[in-house]
This record gives sequence, structure tokens and C-alpha cells, in this order.
Amino acid sequence: MSTTTLSDTLLKAAVENFLTTRGYQRLDIRAALFDMDGTLYDSMPRHAAAWKQMCDENGILADIEEFFAFEGRTGADTINIMFNRQYGHPATDRQIKELYQRKTAIFRSLQPAPKMPGAESLTRQCADNGLNCIVVTGSGQRSLIDNIISDFPGIFHDDRIITSHDVSHGKPHPEPYLKGLKLAGVAPNQAIVIENAPLGVAAGADAGIFTIAVTTGPIPATDMANAGASIIFNSMQECADSFARLLYYMTSISIN
Ligand code: CA
Repeated sequence: MSTTTLSDTLLKAAVENFLTTRGYQRLDIRAALFDMDGTLYDSMPRHAAAWKQMCDENGILADIEEFFAFEGRTGADTINIMFNRQYGHPATDRQIKELYQRKTAIFRSLQPAPKMPGAESLTRQCADNGLNCIVVTGSGQRSLIDNIISDFPGIFHDDRIITSHDVSHGKPHPEPYLKGLKLAGVAPNQAIVIENAPLGVAAGADAGIFTIAVTTGPIPATDMANAGASIIFNSMQECADSFARLLYYMTSISIN
């Protein structure tokens, strides 16, 4: 396991740059909004495999790599992208329901995804520092959501999860994270977002929130930067190992 951390210079610059570009005087972090797949769980390879198998079974053309780029979108959005390019029109509600149910069934038949290394440490540090921990996921799979509550005991709660069922527009639209802010009862400068995919990073950044990107999969850091990441870590472990110092700078820096 890598034990790298980001330098104080980089951590400090990230906070200063965020305040300056957003026009906030200071941060007052009270909530942490966590993406689920690829951030709390090492689940993306399984999701991609399940999507690919569902597509193959139904004559839908797709490359397995695409599902990493689609990451963060709702199931309906993903299905409509594939329908629009192959058939020139979106899927019907019934098709979306049936295809997503099949993808979900395949995913469930696979081994459960392990927690992402570092996720336990990071969520624990957030909770210990009094941050309200909320999950903001494009997923609507009840089984996964139930797992979060038991896998991260005392951190996440049933009424602290935003799923695809709670939003009209999925990531990259900022609505999921705006709903997360509302649930926590905080302003954008009072929260952090933790994300592993460019579309999710864009959603957090567009909601005006300090957005931490973790590159846990094949997507390069430059894509995270282009999506608006406030800071980028090579792994959740690196983020967890740097978090106490990041929080220190978030608490101590103000712009006049
Ligand atoms: Ca994700």
C-alpha cells in the first residue's frame, strides 16, 4: 500500500486557489458528501462488467471501457446515451426499467465489491471532526445502499443518502450535490465532495463545493482537473493520509 501524501504547499495552494476563484472569504466545513462507487467501494470493474454483459445480451453495442467514462450517470442516462447513438432515439421507460433491472441482477450475481482502501480511515476522520457524512450516488440499487450503513457503522445513516430516486437530473448536473447540501443544511463553502469520476467532479464543482478527486480507476488526473477538481489524490489512502493537514488549512486560511 502506498503511503504517499500531498505536500503542505499543494494542500495550502488548493484551499487558497478555491477561495480566490470562488470568491469565498473562508471555508467552514461541516459536511462531507461522498460518492459511492469507485470512492467508498472498489466496485467500478464489477459495474462495467455487468453493463457490458447486459448490453451483449440485448444487442446493444458498447465497449467495456466506456462504462468508466459514463461513471456517475444514472442508469437511465447511460441507457439513453447508448440508445440514441445506436437507434437515434432514447429508450422507453419500460426498456430502461427492464435493462437496468437486468444489469442490476448481473451485478448482484458477482462477488460483493470490497471497501476502497482508505475509505474507512477517511470517513472516520470526517465523523470524528464532527462533519455530517452523506452519500450522494447515481445508483438506485437498494442492496448497495443497505451495505453502506452496515459497512460504515455509525458514519452513514438511512436518512443521509441521496440516490438516483431523489433527483430529476443525475451527475454531471449539480442537483445531486445541491440536494446533499440541503440535506446537511449547509452552504457550498461548508462542505467537501469526494469523487472518483469526472462527471461527479463536475457536479460537485458546479454546486460550488470544494471537490476532492481521487483517481482510483483508469481515468487520468488531467480529466479530473478539467472537470473542476479542487485537489487530486492518487488514491483514497493518500487522501486519508493527507486529510488532517488539508482540514487544518481549510480551517485556518481566510482571504480578505
Ligand atoms: Ca463514482
